[in-house]
Amino acid sequence: GSIEQTPTAGHRCRRVLFFPLPFQGHINPMFQLAALLHSRGFAVTVFHTHLNAPDASLHPDYDFIPVPDGGAPADTPGTVQVTLERVLAVNRACAAPFRDRLAALLEQQHDSDGVACLVADAHLLTLLDVARELGVPTLVLRTGSAACFRIFTAFPMLCANGYQPAEESPELLEAPVRELPPYRVRDLLSTTAAAHPVMAEAVTRIIKAVAASSGLIFNTFDALEHAELAALRRDLAVPVFDVGPLHLLSPPPPAAAASRTSSLLPPDRGCLEWLDAQAPASVLYVSFGSIATMSASDLVEAAWGIAGSGQPFLWVLRPGLVRGGALPSPPPLPEGFDVATRGRGAVVAWAPQEEVLAHAAVGAFWTHCGWNSTLEAACAGVPMLCRPCFGDQMGNARYVDHVWRVGVELDGGELERGKVAAAIAAVMGDVGETTDTGGMRRRALELRRRAAESVAEGGSSSFNVDRLVDHIMAL
Ligand code: UDP
Repeated sequence: GSIEQTPTAGHRCRRVLFFPLPFQGHINPMFQLAALLHSRGFAVTVFHTHLNAPDASLHPDYDFIPVPDGGAPADTPGTVQVTLERVLAVNRACAAPFRDRLAALLEQQHDSDGVACLVADAHLLTLLDVARELGVPTLVLRTGSAACFRIFTAFPMLCANGYQPAEESPELLEAPVRELPPYRVRDLLSTTAAAHPVMAEAVTRIIKAVAASSGLIFNTFDALEHAELAALRRDLAVPVFDVGPLHLLSPPPPAAAASRTSSLLPPDRGCLEWLDAQAPASVLYVSFGSIATMSASDLVEAAWGIAGSGQPFLWVLRPGLVRGGALPSPPPLPEGFDVATRGRGAVVAWAPQEEVLAHAAVGAFWTHCGWNSTLEAACAGVPMLCRPCFGDQMGNARYVDHVWRVGVELDGGELERGKVAAAIAAVMGDVGETTDTGGMRRRALELRRRAAESVAEGGSSSFNVDRLVDHIMAL
């Protein structure tokens, strides 16, 4: 069509509603998508919970509508079970107040800014249902990988064939899932019987939400997940839009905001200056995202492993990272760590991660493999040391290690300082094709090139944004 030829002028008359799930890894891509559609001329209204509410003053062009969430707890949930239980609670608590607010908005609607659709997180089935009942078409944003969504569509089969839950037979954990390569049983979503019921419910709800929607949006790109996207297009009856990496496609935040404007914790920008003073590709960046937690003894082993590696490092020690630690103070490092690493490292509570990963001084990323972190690293050409924690993180690590081969996975189980130091040396010291891990950096740089290609004019994701805009206009 010709509509996409007139950015900013064309669809200011149409309004797109957004409802993110109130967790950092879900908020970021939703705001990036909102900025992208806003730049294409759509008016933006963001519905949000009180928990992790966005700062409206940073987005003067958007309308914000708070929705009471029944007082969701603000501490880090820490486990997949607690996280998913909170997701259900948000759905339940927000349903009635969201209905009232959406109905009021539809009533006030002027012909000039008619609501085109609601884009909501895949976890918000109840709220997507409310919108549909009020006659508003819906699109689902799934903030994980296409590969992970294949686990969702295969979930009934995985349960029927005895892969989920797998706790009963630990030897099964290393077995390949023959029906769904390249996964092993331990890469799947829930291996414990305790986490299984709530995981099964979450997956069922996501599949329902998508089936009833007018389309599914992924933060991924064709060159990264071609086969997985093709399989989903075959299996799903709704159109699929791969429009990632959204952090590269969405317009930069307003100049007044020094960094990404959807960050819940203030990023410590001083670490960028510290990085400026480091040699190219010399620094190990360490961060486990916003939700993953670790035991106190894993923290100690991680610290001595980092110290023992001899590498410069930038470590994000978020308050709440260590289980049982006192909030809001960041977890304390072992005694003697400072002396052992004097001058070699920087520790912050929260980093401007996209800028850190894009910095020439960063040589590798020790990550929990949340999808945003994985995508951001892949698109910055940075090899990864993977320590997945729960949910889709194990599957993401499997792709990093085994499919894209741009990182290595640390052994499961408890951390041990000697193994940590050796793994750091393997990703940081990867200079050739001679070792097992050889070529990781070269392949990561190749992914960076393909990501840039996909968002450039004529690239797959740019093309899909045009398709998405046309699709929304036709709803
Ligand atoms: N992030 C950040 N600063 C940090 C750590 C993380 O800005 O110090 C951002 C990161 O860039 C990513 C998001 O927080 O966009 C985390 O999402 P991800 O899916 O990686 O993990 P989650 O927090 O959902 O487990």
